[in-house]
Amino acid sequence: MGKETGFIDYKRQPATYREPLQRLKDWKEISTLPPSRDLVNQAARCMDCGVPFCQNGSVLSGMTTGCPLYNLIPEWNELVYRGNWKEAYLRLSKTNPFPEFTGRACPAPCEAGCVASLYESSVTIKNIEWAIIDKAFEEGWVTPKIPNNRTGKKVAIIGSGPAGLASASELNQYGHSVTVFERSDRIGGLLTYGIPKMKIEQHVVDRRINLLKESGIEFVTNTEIGKDYPLETLHSEYDSVIICTGATKPRDLVVDGRELEGIHYAMDYLHSNTKSMLDSNFEDGNFISAEGKDVIVIGGGDTATDCVSTALRHNCKSLVQFDIYPERSGSRPEGNPWPEYPLIHKLDHGHEEAVAKFGKEPRSFATSAVEFVGDEYGQLAGVKSAEIKTIVNENGEKIREKVPGTEKFWPAQLVLLAVGFEGMERELLEHSNLEIPKRTDQVENRYGTNKAGTFIAGDARRGSSLIVWAIQEGKEVAAACNEYVMNH
Ligand SMILES: Cc1cc2nc3c(=O)[nH]c(=O)nc-3n(C[C@H](O)[C@H](O)[C@H](O)COP(=O)(O)OP(=O)(O)OC[C@H]3O[C@@H](n4cnc5c(N)ncnc54)[C@H](O)[C@@H]3O)c2cc1C
Ligand code: SF4
Repeated sequence: MGKETGFIDYKRQPATYREPLQRLKDWKEISTLPPSRDLVNQAARCMDCGVPFCQNGSVLSGMTTGCPLYNLIPEWNELVYRGNWKEAYLRLSKTNPFPEFTGRACPAPCEAGCVASLYESSVTIKNIEWAIIDKAFEEGWVTPKIPNNRTGKKVAIIGSGPAGLASASELNQYGHSVTVFERSDRIGGLLTYGIPKMKIEQHVVDRRINLLKESGIEFVTNTEIGKDYPLETLHSEYDSVIICTGATKPRDLVVDGRELEGIHYAMDYLHSNTKSMLDSNFEDGNFISAEGKDVIVIGGGDTATDCVSTALRHNCKSLVQFDIYPERSGSRPEGNPWPEYPLIHKLDHGHEEAVAKFGKEPRSFATSAVEFVGDEYGQLAGVKSAEIKTIVNENGEKIREKVPGTEKFWPAQLVLLAVGFEGMERELLEHSNLEIPKRTDQVENRYGTNKAGTFIAGDARRGSSLIVWAIQEGKEVAAACNEYVMNH
């Protein structure tokens, strides 16, 4: 334990966010870390708990609490407090191959589980992680991990998101020759083409990919396995294949008027925006623009918030977000005790920006679209909504009912659908008769498939989730794959 009275002496001091109206003018990261002197005090708030709930990732009531990567949090907190940043980096990188991604964009289930939140407020674990890795890069401590010996075994990984990158990194260090196939023109999966650049700037992703290349991993872009290159050929050319293709199949909202022009899936909007920005700083115009439009974002999760903050940067005319859930209270409700992830009302970065720009909360709670209304040219002109009552029946199922007499019309020329994902695109599996175990199945190797030597991990296996789970699955599938190739 760094300082016995640290949790009494110092108040929680989180990262500072740039002023919302200022940050809306660019696509740069929106927060900055406190100075290192203050971060040392923040690390001193750690109590080195006998049972560190922060580092033991588990799923309680369907939500993650504690770190899925089992990061050795109290250990690196103490090292930071003692000013031993290099040792802190070495300890952090024992469990997390990419702390620069989680330190920036993880929703920090570790902080939800932190024991200090029972006394006052959690240790700023995520900021400390971010500070450690940024210092490690500045000091040149992060170098390519080139294996001393090669085993002669070849592994193909399909998909270059955090799961694919983590498994590639681990397998390369085992000494296997790894090739990552990616259908997009850039590597990174949702780190590159999903999460907006205000959360993770592209140079942060590219810096890690360059290190992976220097350590010997080969990347092949613009190649969709199952379409440009048959999966069967990969099976014959490689000793093992790992599918890390994400959970990119969007959920639709099928109501009258869905066919109108101006209704897009959130991912088409976010992907085209980032691609145009990276290709030409928007000069090619190849993106769905919200400029001057009345925008309605449908959905209450992080993807919806990312659409809100992107539409605001496009300079939309007005913005409303429909959230089907009622507004949450500011404190934990009954039945959601610590260390569960707290289900409380939050004003996320995008909402804060909308309040600064339009003077009001963008979310309309307990609201759903019931009809899209068009003009005579087939263009979207507005959305009819209704208030929704959610009832949980005796089996724990959520039943949604429209409240009569609550219909309302909202003008809109752009609607963004962010109502979730249905899982992985199935074509790859169906064309090759591959079967994967359900998450609930009790199987010996949960990353295996019905074909020996073919594995699956990340969002493709568990459904849309978090970077931290994708990295952990990438590490675990690499261990399973290593065992397979070394025994066959
Ligand atoms: C908009 C958005 C914002 C998010 N924000 C956060 C956040 O702030 N924090 C957080 O922790 N998580 C966030 N997430 C979730 C997180 O990004 C994902 O859980 C994580 O990226 C999953 O990693 P993955 O490697 O399994 O899949 P992905 O990142 O989805 O990568 C899969 C890759 O496989 C490629 N691919 C698919 N099929 C093929 C094929 N047949 N051949 C070749 N390549 C293929 C795809 O092009 C893609 O690049 C967000 C998700 C979205 C959609
Ligand atoms: S739970 Fe919080 S206080 Fe306890 S060891 Fe983890 S970070 Fe430190």
